[in-house]
Amino acid sequence: MTQNLSQTLATQVRAVSGRPIAKATKMELWQGLSAAVVDQIADSWDTTTETYAKGRQEHYFSAEFLMGRALLNNLSNLGLVDEARAALAEHGDDLSVVLEEEPDAALGNGGLGRLAACFLDSCATLDLPVAGYGILYRYGLFKQLFDNGFQTEHPDPWMEEGYPFVIRREEAQRIVSYADLTVRAVPYDMPITGYGTKNVNTLRLWRAEPVEEFDYDAFNSQRFTDAIVDRERTNDISRVLYPNDTTFEGKVLRVRQQYFFCSASLQAIVDNYVEHHGKDLTDFAKYNAIQLNDTHPVLAIPELMRLLMDEHGLGWEDAWAIVAKTFAYTNHTVLAEALETWEMTIFDRLFPRIAEIVREIDRRFRIEMAERGLEQSTIDYMAPVSGNTVRMAWIACYAAYSINGVAALHTEIIKRETLKEWHDIWPERFNNKTNGVTPRRWLKQCNPRLASLLDRVTGSDEWVTDLSVLSRYVDSASEDVLDELTSIKHANKVDFAAWVKEREGVDIDPDAIFDVQIKRLHEYKRQLLNALYILDLYFRIKDDPTLDVPKRVFVFGAKAAPGYIRAKGVIKLINTIADLVNNDEDINGRIKVVFIHNYNVSPAEHIIPAADISEQISTAGKEASGTSNMKFMMNGALTLGTLDGANVEILDAVGDENAYIFGATEDELPELRQNYDPRWHYENVPGLKRVLDALTDGTLDDCGSGWFHDLRWSLLEAGYEPADVYYVLGDFAAYRDAKDRMATDYRDARAWARKVWVNIAQSGRFSSDRTITDYANEVWKLDATPID
Ligand SMILES: *Cc1c(COP(=O)(O)O)cnc(C)c1O
Repeated sequence: MTQNLSQTLATQVRAVSGRPIAKATKMELWQGLSAAVVDQIADSWDTTTETYAKGRQEHYFSAEFLMGRALLNNLSNLGLVDEARAALAEHGDDLSVVLEEEPDAALGNGGLGRLAACFLDSCATLDLPVAGYGILYRYGLFKQLFDNGFQTEHPDPWMEEGYPFVIRREEAQRIVSYADLTVRAVPYDMPITGYGTKNVNTLRLWRAEPVEEFDYDAFNSQRFTDAIVDRERTNDISRVLYPNDTTFEGKVLRVRQQYFFCSASLQAIVDNYVEHHGKDLTDFAKYNAIQLNDTHPVLAIPELMRLLMDEHGLGWEDAWAIVAKTFAYTNHTVLAEALETWEMTIFDRLFPRIAEIVREIDRRFRIEMAERGLEQSTIDYMAPVSGNTVRMAWIACYAAYSINGVAALHTEIIKRETLKEWHDIWPERFNNKTNGVTPRRWLKQCNPRLASLLDRVTGSDEWVTDLSVLSRYVDSASEDVLDELTSIKHANKVDFAAWVKEREGVDIDPDAIFDVQIKRLHEYKRQLLNALYILDLYFRIKDDPTLDVPKRVFVFGAKAAPGYIRAKGVIKLINTIADLVNNDEDINGRIKVVFIHNYNVSPAEHIIPAADISEQISTAGKEASGTSNMKFMMNGALTLGTLDGANVEILDAVGDENAYIFGATEDELPELRQNYDPRWHYENVPGLKRVLDALTDGTLDDCGSGWFHDLRWSLLEAGYEPADVYYVLGDFAAYRDAKDRMATDYRDARAWARKVWVNIAQSGRFSSDRTITDYANEVWKLDATPID
């Protein structure tokens, strides 16, 4: 019989700290409370696992899971927040302080990894038999600090102090073999609770360990360092998350990581099938389906072929028939630099059998396409292998029974361009699943004031698991409700201002407009456009100090890939603009710029509830979906954005008058680009010359890095590539107009609150519960399986 949380808390804290609860550190309280939560769910978790093992299961393969913090999420899902608060209060401790002790599990780079995390939450909440599979990186995404405005990267050993939410399953380990190395894959299982359900799903993260704890032979023969080196080669595999978002790097260690978690996961899945359904694998795809989150796990396709043929004796045709019914593939990007291609020689060196299978897939593909009458040039283009290059996306498209994009516009672009040849042959494989975010973490937990208002307006908490109910109230918000919305936002801004003061040392005024852009730093996301606007506004006020403009706070949060110099240049630029603007007496606090360092999931939870404006300003056609746009919408920030990714659907949901849309559209851009001359804009758009010249005329100091010169050059001259490929200057005037208009509109608090309300009320279709319901019905053919 499970004890109550208060009893277990004391026991667990004593166990982790070795002293009475009164003497425990905050970290030990976090550990003890977390362990107490695991204790609460242990029986349900086991029952869920046993139940799912017998029926049809979906397996979500992803190299990234950007989970963030777990404790509050679990307490909230289990309805234990008040009990936990009271249990800590008995000892004079404050739950909110203890929660801040938790490190973020930052096992992902950005949107793709956070999507996987939101999906797990929805799957558990919907009682769907879905498990996640990935890698237990010892170091998550690097920790970002600023040194004189420059980004510096530091290791993130997130579970070094102990992490109660992963359980090592020694007995479920598997062996993964490379030509030059054999390693043990040890699973660490994380319980995934759902909201208001007993089901507890699993995220299985694999850790690489040496097969022999230690090579005593090498040790005894005085080859001590050899023994250590070999150990380290194994440990390397799960050591670090690669920090590149959107750019592909052909590192051997990376492909080792990919094969590592695919092989271990598939072995576990096949073994489970054999245990429950017998040795005849004919029905494998009846009980198992696998969603590939981008191409990172595509090695699972040849690996399942290998397991079925080499370990279970199937012939090629029978194995392929199973594989072709098992995998579904999600495309996440149309950026050319992101497409994964590996050198065949790397495959030959690391896993010759997989290389052989990939070549055979290629050979059979070419025959099949020739029989279909495709032209040789088309076949060569689509073939999985060409010369020494393996194209992971082509393997995925050939093998998968479903291929999906992540927003309506994105799906149209992949059908029309990126994956056109595949769509010509198999149109029925293509489908759209617009991304979503979980309203538990991104509304109920991070914005309790708004959550309580929604409870009162709707008369229940049904919205927590069916966000679409809010749309019933879109037209019926009373003036009291609108005023309350305004005061809730204000209260959130006061909290956020205190958090910023403490974390970044900057004073901001809660009465200002909080204008926020938080996302990975990438040229296509155009943080530079936002920076240019701020500089222009600064000069406008300098020109005319009496200019009547509302007070503004510009908030940024973004990590740049460590090797992406131009992105790092933008970070330095924004920090330098912040120095200039924040300390200028003429400005007198009318503009403040804050760059939140080390942007991550838990900072996002502090920032988003306080935002008035959600900056979603990517070059049209480049952002596949975006998900921060959805989090902001749910929290009553208005979108200032281009017609890109899911912004298109947000606009459709709220209407023109409740969003600020500007700029060239995806279908206009090809023609605009034909005659595009950024210099013309530089010379002719009022203010633009002044702003761009400020990058290099001494107004802003890049400390000798030359980075500001590079930024200006990339927009105006660029040499070997066309200048301003992301159309920053082309969109500048329209962006400035939209942003100025927005600032003026903000002055009418009632009218603004009405827009805010429409955004919140219409955010239901961007709940990941809707996305997952669509995957389950249309792609996975999966039924809810409640354990009660
Ligand atoms: C939601 C989220 C993202 C994705 O942001 P986009 O603006 O959609 O790119 C990235 N990082 C974190 C920490 C997030 O929570």
